[in-house]
Amino acid sequence: MLPDADIVIIGGGLAGLTAGIHLARHNLRVTLFEKQAYPHHKVCGEYISNEVLPYLRQLGVSVDGLNPARIQHFSLSTASGDTIESDLPLGGFAVSRYTLDNHLAQTAIKAGVTIIQDEVKRVFFEETANAFTIETASGKTYHSTITLGAYGKRSLLDKQLDRPFIRTESPWLGVKAHYKAEFPAGLVSLHNFHGGYCGLCQVENGLVNACYLATYDSFKTYKNIDAFQQQVLSQNPHLAHFFSNAELVFEKPLVISQISFAPKQPVDSHILMCGDTAGLIHPLCGNGMAMAIHSAKLVSERLIAYFNGRLNDRAALEKSYTLAWRSEFTKRLTAGRLLQSVLQHPLATSVMLKSLQLTPGLLPLIIKQTHGKPLAIEQCP
Ligand SMILES: Cc1cc2nc3c(=O)[nH]c(=O)nc-3n(C[C@H](O)[C@H](O)[C@H](O)COP(=O)(O)OP(=O)(O)OC[C@H]3O[C@@H](n4cnc5c(N)ncnc54)[C@H](O)[C@@H]3O)c2cc1C
Repeated sequence: MLPDADIVIIGGGLAGLTAGIHLARHNLRVTLFEKQAYPHHKVCGEYISNEVLPYLRQLGVSVDGLNPARIQHFSLSTASGDTIESDLPLGGFAVSRYTLDNHLAQTAIKAGVTIIQDEVKRVFFEETANAFTIETASGKTYHSTITLGAYGKRSLLDKQLDRPFIRTESPWLGVKAHYKAEFPAGLVSLHNFHGGYCGLCQVENGLVNACYLATYDSFKTYKNIDAFQQQVLSQNPHLAHFFSNAELVFEKPLVISQISFAPKQPVDSHILMCGDTAGLIHPLCGNGMAMAIHSAKLVSERLIAYFNGRLNDRAALEKSYTLAWRSEFTKRLTAGRLLQSVLQHPLATSVMLKSLQLTPGLLPLIIKQTHGKPLAIEQCP
């Protein structure tokens, strides 16, 4: 069978599109499948650490042209409203996924990526052909030498691939909307409430993104999102002030469920997994997007080495990517899980906040544990 592409990428979010741009800039034939039309909104806090900026610039992605909000400060409040603030060691920017993903998709097309709007239903590796077969919802079949899985947190493909995390129910749901509201420019704030936490920050057009993660148990006794926000989130005085003064811009908030933070494998059934498909960090660390972009860099550098003959074969490619992914992200994911477990307990959160107030240098140090260093393209191996 003749491959239709050197590389098929399943999913056109941050990980898939960034990898597509990187690989196409090195003259590889890339076909990317995305099930939704661009542009579209996504449940996401939309704050991105500046660590990705040098790399995005190298790829020719003009974040500055999107007029993002520049973020330098962070604040954290307990459910009762006690607050601590800190400068962000690296800083970041905030831009809606509606704008960012669309811009990346346009950049990818200009770089030579073929983007097909279709949902991948099945993917499998054929040992004898040493190639992948990809079947889509529209009934078409494609073949590729390499397949990247960049389809996000959860997909029916995870069931088809029988990935262990998919067998367990996850208690988390995520809600996001944009609001017209007064909110300090340059600040990203995280507010705890019983059963979850909510992030607030301005995005590119002066609107404010409010995005929260809540346990299904805390949510299920309330009839709807409005009631939940008024009766649970608004027990935190900062959130009460925000929601009582903010005007919803979306028709209704977006909701996703079954958000799993369980460990996953960076390579599964010979598919190289990137972004959330390889592992999702707790959103309180505010760094999943940077990790998605970073994992795209790691996999692209290795794929370029593979197609140039510097990595001998598929086994060497898979090993190199697995090692690089683990060395870069395992510590951060563990720090994220640890922080998450503290924030789930109101008493532990209060104790942590008091300690942070007494030792002001500690919060930037914790933030550094969940973030990386500024990225730039490297030759590999
Ligand atoms: C509540 C919440 C708040 C968050 N806040 C932040 C934050 O403030 N900052 C931050 O850095 N991170 C945050 N994150 C994490 C961040 O959103 C993710 O880490 C990031 O979106 C990962 O990008 P990705 O490309 O891996 O996946 P995605 O952006 O989810 O992209 C996956 C794409 O694949 C497509 N797709 C899925 N299945 C198929 C298929 N079978 N065929 C074709 N296409 C398919 C989807 O339509 C989607 O476009 C948050 C996450 C949550 C849940």
